[in-house]
Amino acid sequence: MADTLTTEQREIVAMVRDFVEREIIPVEHDLEHDDIYPEDIVRKMKELGFFGFAISEQWGGAGLNYETYARVCEEIARGWMSITGVINTHFLVSYLIETFGTDEQKQRFLPKLATGEHHGGYSMSEPGCGSDVQAIRTRAIRDDGEYVINGTKMWATNGEHATVVATLVKTDPDAKPAYRGMSCILAEKQYRGFYASRKIEKLGYKGVETTELVFDGNRQPAANLLGGVEGQGFQQMMAAIEVGRINVAARGVGVAQRAFELSIAYAQERHTFGKPIAQHQAIQFKLADMATKIEAARLLTLMAARTKDSGERADVEAGMAKLFATEACFEVVTEAMRVHGGYGFSKEYLVEQLYRDAPLLIIGEGTSEIQRLIIAKGLLERYKTR
Ligand SMILES: Cc1cc2nc3c(=O)[nH]c(=O)nc-3n(C[C@H](O)[C@H](O)[C@H](O)COP(=O)(O)OP(=O)(O)OC[C@H]3O[C@@H](n4cnc5c(N)ncnc54)[C@H](O)[C@@H]3O)c2cc1C
Repeated sequence: MADTLTTEQREIVAMVRDFVEREIIPVEHDLEHDDIYPEDIVRKMKELGFFGFAISEQWGGAGLNYETYARVCEEIARGWMSITGVINTHFLVSYLIETFGTDEQKQRFLPKLATGEHHGGYSMSEPGCGSDVQAIRTRAIRDDGEYVINGTKMWATNGEHATVVATLVKTDPDAKPAYRGMSCILAEKQYRGFYASRKIEKLGYKGVETTELVFDGNRQPAANLLGGVEGQGFQQMMAAIEVGRINVAARGVGVAQRAFELSIAYAQERHTFGKPIAQHQAIQFKLADMATKIEAARLLTLMAARTKDSGERADVEAGMAKLFATEACFEVVTEAMRVHGGYGFSKEYLVEQLYRDAPLLIIGEGTSEIQRLIIAKGLLERYKTR
């Protein structure tokens, strides 16, 4: 498909593809199966400027637009999906600060985020709620020049490695509607009483940690209230999650692309009834459907990224891309498993891992049911009859 990338942006995507081939694909199988954090890969990513990809040049980043970012995420996920998780929450934080932060917050955080000295995390979910964001209970009370925070957050990706976590809290629990009493605090680990209390064991998406986060009488400076105004947190976090949904949609494309590549190669090698299985029409139909779904998912993802690049509201487009690409990915990896027969069930073959990774995509960053609600709400606004 024709893209709108500049030569420089295309070179960055090619550089990432090369990095994935050299540094990620050769080691990811062992790291994934042993659930080991990819320290070396992350260190090299910092050295090569990956942590500044989606941060403006003014703050030391590369200033990539979201279309390029989506292509980069697809390439990384084609190698190992977990690595896209390492940078996703990071760029949600940089987006929040660039878009809503005070000048002082931009100066204090963005240059360090661009180098990876600061690693960003993003935390809305709690043990009692994920989809129903307005039901959060974590409370921040202003006390002189600080916020005192108490509560437990759940499912925080990069919960151990993140040094600053954009955290949704209630500053006014009596507000009606509830979202008006919600604020975003740029919570820094350096302040006592804020820590990752446990790592959650997962089906897939291994290597990158997902943790519970505890705020136990934690005191953050009032200067860490995003934008300096209370009551804006819900809208701020929702705007950022559009970027996250583009990342997750692109992951779906990358994981599905890898499953397809493995399947079409395997289908030409594996023989049954005297010929390669690729010569059986039933297998050909699978390959055709897989490739068609992937291409459609890629187009929707790039359209969502371009809408976000235009500065327009992208909730419907990001929702559609996330919904379609992740469901398509789930279907494609299942078909890849069938094409591989018994070997697809073996831990020696990558398909087994892709099969375990794909389900997260239809849950994280908002489930498919929630995407449908967002899409329908947006459509009813756009197509209002009166
Ligand atoms: C590996 C992993 C990493 C994650 N990382 C992060 C992170 O970094 N930061 C963060 O904040 N969160 C993170 N999450 C949390 C994730 O966003 C939530 O799990 C997700 O939003 C779903 O919330 P829930 O698990 O509470 O499910 P629930 O909200 O309890 O939903 C359960 C089921 O009910 C359905 N449902 C809920 N409400 C409705 C409705 N109104 N209509 C129809 N169906 C509905 C859902 O679609 C789902 O099928 C992560 C989750 C996982 C698994």
